[in-house]
Amino acid sequence: MRCEACGSAATTEIVFAAGDGLLAVPKVQCKKLFYKYSKLSAYACTDCGAVFRIRLEQPEKFKPFVDYSGGVQ
Ligand SMILES: [Zn+2]
Repeated sequence: MRCEACGSAATTEIVFAAGDGLLAVPKVQCKKLFYKYSKLSAYACTDCGAVFRIRLEQPEKFKPFVDYSGGVQ
């Protein structure tokens, strides 16, 4: 995976860790005790320090929360 910032090939896949992992949670679920979540993964460049291609590992979990009306907040 080439770095999107400097083009270096010296990159490695990473996950965001905080205890059992930094989690992304749908905003509408934040006040619930048991919320859906997905771990995050990304790539990091060991030359320039850029972090890119941040993504959900289980994006399908968030499908029920998609607003297909196209509303703008
Ligand atoms: Zn880089």
